[in-house]
Amino acid sequence: MFEIHGFAVHAAGAQLLPYKFDPGELQPNEVEIKISHCGVCHSDVHLIDNDRGLSKYPFIPGHEIMGTVVAVGSDVKNRAIGERVGVGWQADSCGICEWCRQGDEHLCAQSQPTCIGRNGGYADKIRVNSRFAIPVPATLDSENAAPLLCGGITVYSPLRNHGVRPYSRVGVIGIGGLGHIGLQFAKAFGAEVTAFSTSKDKEAEARSLGAHHFVNTRDTGALKKVAGSFDFLLSTVSADQDWQGYVTALRPKGTLCVVGVPPSPMQIQAFSLVDQQKTLAGSSTGSPRDLHEMLDVAARHGVKAITERFAMAKANDAVAKVKKNQVRYRAVLAN
Ligand code: NAP
Ligand code: ZN
Repeated sequence: MFEIHGFAVHAAGAQLLPYKFDPGELQPNEVEIKISHCGVCHSDVHLIDNDRGLSKYPFIPGHEIMGTVVAVGSDVKNRAIGERVGVGWQADSCGICEWCRQGDEHLCAQSQPTCIGRNGGYADKIRVNSRFAIPVPATLDSENAAPLLCGGITVYSPLRNHGVRPYSRVGVIGIGGLGHIGLQFAKAFGAEVTAFSTSKDKEAEARSLGAHHFVNTRDTGALKKVAGSFDFLLSTVSADQDWQGYVTALRPKGTLCVVGVPPSPMQIQAFSLVDQQKTLAGSSTGSPRDLHEMLDVAARHGVKAITERFAMAKANDAVAKVKKNQVRYRAVLAN
């Protein structure tokens, strides 16, 4: 009999309750990780509330995990007991499809998210396919690194994949868990960086994280004033926005990339994309290879999450604070 102890949700929007389960025998390709920290991503909040219809109850949320390998399956050759690793949004993939073979495991149709149909990181332990247990550079502190495993890769990948360069003018929309890391990576890429925020009290910190400019989107006409200004806009907001205003804020050939998941369809005039050859894009997490690279870049450039620590048993308090947009800037649960 094996036992993992955590905090699970049993119905949409319900409180997390202590929960234990038997994960059975360790599979040959799995590692078991003793969790030290787990970030509270807004995607956990979406899953707890089931506002995307993806959740399977009961489940333990959590997919920004840091910990130490405590057991390895019989086929595992890439990880060792005692190694410090991180786990993000993805816990497994088929390993043989076109996407897995080309190193885009996160696009695999059989991808297994860490806490959908499985139990995630608001717990003492977790098991994942060893390919998704990513070694973390020693210079990164576990509490500040945990949010990089989802929040960090989610902002790093689009900046990299859309070719952000030192001459690029980049805007990060929403300075929360993802956005405050996005400012730091955009600075590391050398771009001229603008923070778009509904919270004017975030201005000083946004500037200290790398923003050269700050736009308070609650100001009347704020987006009109920056029309035609940006090569790349990255939206990390989970609420509906003036999407047309952001497309208008792009320069010719500019891209608006969404990683946040607002509730309503996005309203945009096709002509405003056609006329100046603008692109509307989306991006989802990243592959194990991308995670390795992102963590190396974070270590080299001093990118880290600003965290607010909660004891694991206080997970409900952390989730409630995320819902109220009161965390500065990422809640992290600690065992
Ligand atoms: P978060 O920490 O709650 O931050 C979201 C930020 O959006 C807030 O801090 C706030 O920034 C802004 N915001 C919130 N409500 C708003 C409103 N009504 N109007 C305008 N701005 C608002 O959330 P997160 O963890 O960064 O996640 C953000 C979104 O990304 C979520 O939808 C999450 O599910 C999604 N996500 C996607 C991926 C992916 O792979 N694509 C990965 C992780 C997360 P200001 O105070 O600065 O306005
Ligand atoms: Zn996440």
